Amino acid sequence: MAGVLHFILLLFLHCGSFILISAGPEDGTTTVDSDAAFTTTESLFSAGRTNASEVPTTGFTASYSKLTTKPPTTTTTTERLTGDTGKTAERAVSGKDAEEEKEQEGPLELERRSTRSIKVAKKPKTIQKKPKLITKKPKVVTKAKPQVKKSASPPVATEKVPQCPPLGLESLKVKDNQLRASSFKRKGLGPHRGRLNIQSGIEDGDIYDGAWCAQYRDKKQWLEVDARQLTRFTGVILQGRNSIWSWDVVHTYKVQFSNDSLVWKPCMNGTEEAVFEGNQDAETPVLALFNTSAVARYIRINPQTWYQNGTDGDICLRAEVLGCTLPDPNNIYAWQTQPAESRDKLDFRHHNYKEMKKLMKSVNEACPDITRIYSIGKSYTGLKLYVMEISDNPGKHELGEPEFRYVAGMHGNEVLGRELLLNLMQYICQEYKRGDQRIVHLVKETRIHLLPSMNPDGYEMAFKKGSELSGWALGRYSYEGIDMNHNFADLNSVMWTAIELETDRSKLINHYFPIPEQYTSEEAFVASETRAVINWMQDIPFVLSANLHGGELVVTYPYDMTRDWAPREHTPTSDESFFRWLSTAYASTNQVMSNPDRRPCHNKDFLRYNNIINGADWHNVPGSMNDFSYLHTNCFEVTVELSCDKFPHASELPMEWENNRESLLIYMEQVHRGIKGVVRDKDTEAGIADAIIKVDDIDHHIRSVADGDYWRLLNPGEYRVTASAEGYYPSSRTCQVMYDHYPTICDFRLTKMPKQRLKEILAKGGKIPKDLQLRLRQLRLRKLRVTTKAMNQRRAAAAAKRAKRV
Ligand SMILES: [Zn+2]
Repeated sequence: MAGVLHFILLLFLHCGSFILISAGPEDGTTTVDSDAAFTTTESLFSAGRTNASEVPTTGFTASYSKLTTKPPTTTTTTERLTGDTGKTAERAVSGKDAEEEKEQEGPLELERRSTRSIKVAKKPKTIQKKPKLITKKPKVVTKAKPQVKKSASPPVATEKVPQCPPLGLESLKVKDNQLRASSFKRKGLGPHRGRLNIQSGIEDGDIYDGAWCAQYRDKKQWLEVDARQLTRFTGVILQGRNSIWSWDVVHTYKVQFSNDSLVWKPCMNGTEEAVFEGNQDAETPVLALFNTSAVARYIRINPQTWYQNGTDGDICLRAEVLGCTLPDPNNIYAWQTQPAESRDKLDFRHHNYKEMKKLMKSVNEACPDITRIYSIGKSYTGLKLYVMEISDNPGKHELGEPEFRYVAGMHGNEVLGRELLLNLMQYICQEYKRGDQRIVHLVKETRIHLLPSMNPDGYEMAFKKGSELSGWALGRYSYEGIDMNHNFADLNSVMWTAIELETDRSKLINHYFPIPEQYTSEEAFVASETRAVINWMQDIPFVLSANLHGGELVVTYPYDMTRDWAPREHTPTSDESFFRWLSTAYASTNQVMSNPDRRPCHNKDFLRYNNIINGADWHNVPGSMNDFSYLHTNCFEVTVELSCDKFPHASELPMEWENNRESLLIYMEQVHRGIKGVVRDKDTEAGIADAIIKVDDIDHHIRSVADGDYWRLLNPGEYRVTASAEGYYPSSRTCQVMYDHYPTICDFRLTKMPKQRLKEILAKGGKIPKDLQLRLRQLRLRKLRVTTKAMNQRRAAAAAKRAKRV
């Protein structure tokens, strides 16, 4: 989400303790194969007859589970995980390939070993994690740190637990009617709200609250998930209540299984009923893996102890359940068990920095004629911001060919956009080679730029925790703690202040606003990533863009900032109708958004708005990339919130590609709407750069680029268009925009002003003067580049020094 809301919520994040556990069998390392455990675990399929107190048996050679003792350590320092203890469990849950595992590296990487081989020590061992300080700038926010804990019960026989994916409480794959509870406090705290990472509204007490909360405060309360089919349950992830006003967490809980939701069987730890450790803070997801997995249809989470707060503490939780669905011979509805797949053969998994680079390289090698990889700069820790360019003539701007960009991963933990862009580049390459006419046309007529990861530092942080344990905020920010979507120069205020102060309307400008002076200094708190993107925006004459986020399902369009700092207020641009069209183009073709039966992700029902909304009407975001792009350059940009879950499990990626493929293509094709043309000197036929293109009744101009070509995105209709440039007489004409998928050509030939006047100008300044606005804009950008360069050099020198010492 692009929101200010999260920022507020973050201030309430509490940092819990850090315990990492190592576990082990008597005979050293065991390789855990997810299929191997299938035949050996007990099934609850016939559990109807099973006595609830019966001890489950496993067909395994017993090995020791680990003991957890947990001295409460609270820390607000940023630390790195020391070693890979505990990582194994967490990594495995995120379901990544062993091969992928080995490859991971990068400046922020930790040492780790393959997920397939879970190393287990001989004796029960307790390892306390040592918080380690890294020298770096103080962070703006404190991050939630996921913890991995095992049952708090004494060590007993365990089985090898296969690693199963989440059922989808977070992703909404599990529907509201699959969730039940013993009781609930009120509708907004019903069982359907007991989903991992669900976000409450600003106020408690509405219908969108931040957890399931039981009505009563006793040990008989439960939250039940109906998996709808036989499932091997392997674990639970628990989180406290999301609320600004209340603090509710469950400390310990039990788990029960059933096939009919009548007869329940406890989750055991040897001969005792297992008690699992829940949460110490409200935000950090805590994973508990069962010592013995169970096959059943229903699972209950049954809180035992919770934060009491005198007598006021409620039993509240958010959860995810891990489980592998089993083939059911009795199921006649085969479609119900069909795994989510895509017809496209793409690399569906999460790619860390190194893997991403590799994949981009492979696309480039497969389609060298239409692709090119370049970097626009570096992140704080020195990771490159790679862009894949796709065009029939990569590397150069072609006269009349519009430039398009997708930017993903500005918030590093909102990872779906990154994977979708990696899918998209593979897809375009494959389809182009296959001769798919739609793709061939797109590639020939458009220069496409894909930036999959604007915040690679943040991504690496979230990636390490994995899709379920990274919580809601870890990895959102830059390494320095900067939220990049608040980090662009606030040109809205510049514009609105000028409108208030200036009585002569003809003196007001409405486009190409220069960056404010104070923004260009080295001291300005502007992330290297933000600086890199601003540079990029200047280098390439982009016409259209989208900024891919996650954590909601909606398309937002500028302005993102409200005029009077209202928390939310509809704040349209002069291109409101076209922005609404653009947003609709994406939202109406996205298969999840456009589903009329979908439930809201968190606390706002965007279906009511047809899944599009003015950014400022959702929440006020000053310094957003969308607003900057519109006010500083020719480029129109919207934000796409791609999924309720910021970090979907890898198994959901094929489905997400299917949900978004058409939208991603349709949206790119919108770059060909409206009018385009070339502004030329009538005598010499030379293109005129920086000519102003004005459309009557739209108070936002755009400019021609270096060769005199321009693009003006417009909805169908008839427009009076005027082109003007310094030293030339303006020229007007009427241009008709049709409903077709191609733009109307509207060229201009401008006549030079009389030589006499030109002579005077030349005599005074030597050159035809550019207008002041343009000069100021260029000057400020040059300053920004100089300070960026100085910063980067300093940083590189410091890094080299550090490397020398080591
Ligand atoms: Zn976001």
